[in-house]
Amino acid sequence: MKKTIKDIDVKGKRVVVRCDFNVPMQDGAITDDNRIVAALPTIKYLVENGAKIVLMSHMGRPKGEPKMEFTLAPVAKRLEELLGQPVKFISCPEVVNDEVKEAVATLADGEVMLLENVRFRKEETDNDAGFAKELASLGEIFVQEAFGTAHRAHASTAGIADYLPAVSGFLIEKEVKFLGSAVENPERPFVAIMGGAKVGDKIPVIENLLQKVDTLIIGGGMAYTFFKSMGLEIGKSILDADNIELAGKLLEKAEAMGVKMLIPVDTVCAADFDNDAETLICDRDAIPADMEGLDIGPKTVELYKEALKDAKTIVWNGPMGVFEMPNFAKGTKAIAEILAESDAITIIGGGDSAAAAEQFGLADKMTHISTGGGASLEFLEGKVLPGIAVIEDK
Ligand code: ADP
Ligand code: MG
Repeated sequence: MKKTIKDIDVKGKRVVVRCDFNVPMQDGAITDDNRIVAALPTIKYLVENGAKIVLMSHMGRPKGEPKMEFTLAPVAKRLEELLGQPVKFISCPEVVNDEVKEAVATLADGEVMLLENVRFRKEETDNDAGFAKELASLGEIFVQEAFGTAHRAHASTAGIADYLPAVSGFLIEKEVKFLGSAVENPERPFVAIMGGAKVGDKIPVIENLLQKVDTLIIGGGMAYTFFKSMGLEIGKSILDADNIELAGKLLEKAEAMGVKMLIPVDTVCAADFDNDAETLICDRDAIPADMEGLDIGPKTVELYKEALKDAKTIVWNGPMGVFEMPNFAKGTKAIAEILAESDAITIIGGGDSAAAAEQFGLADKMTHISTGGGASLEFLEGKVLPGIAVIEDK
């Protein structure tokens, strides 16, 4: 178990919190403030418990330069509205300068301040010790609350913890609790559902999950690489040509390990990659050479429903089809509905799968939706995340 802000006394202490305020922006305005809202419980807890709060985050890819299109000024403003209290913000290319230090030194208990985009400094992504020390000099405690960057060893996500005691905020606590227990000691049967476009990207995850799960379900674009490995015609379906052999090996490996590995039995084909294209539902061994598979078929949905029926833990990563087009969203929607109705612990990791659950209005029916796409994949791969590793154990 990792220490959280509840395990320490924060009263009167200067607390440096690494948040994930990497919000989508358009023309200088925030288009989706979910990530700011998600950090509120931790910030409010610190305010109510009398900490002096220094928040930091990155936004976009300024590539180590103070590009003002990536300033966190709009975030400070939005945060002020959401918190209902002032948020001090000093924009400077150095992120930490004398004015910032002075402002931090004069913070009263319960006051909040936000630093400028940490990626204005090249040393951030280099995990430079000097910059980590500068950031650490602003506080007495480091709070990790940015799961989206926890798989990166940067100055503000990992390096800083060389100089300050580190604890987790509530978001990180939840991520570690659900993803951690799914990977380490899941309630069984444990079923993982893998989808999305490319097998290659997710091979390490599939390999690791094979060691953990009772059943592994495959859907989405990666299914066709598995079909290909079985010698089936896949027409114009998406293919990860470099990984055909590997897909075949994974099927063999699962069998040898006694893990049930399910691949689709039927598919929804389309004449073109277009919502209005002519479609055909066919078994996986009857894909026409001039069509492409864009969703799992109804027989597959039934098969997967059965496989998920008694599950106690379900991890889902990657949509079952091209859910962005309504005519190819049925498989993904069906899976999302099965999870929403399930009594199992349901965990979604993966940006597009989370977006799909959101689109179907089922997001709040899931036990946990991970906030970090890449980070949750690395977690499921069984990797140690540097930003998590630095948090002290209880
Ligand atoms: P996640 O973000 O949940 O990890 P991925 O990024 O791996 O998921 O994959 C999501 C993408 O996969 C979606 O944009 C979806 O349209 C695409 N996809 C799913 N099924 C297919 C398919 N049969 N053909 C082409 N693309 C597909
Ligand atoms: Mg994605």
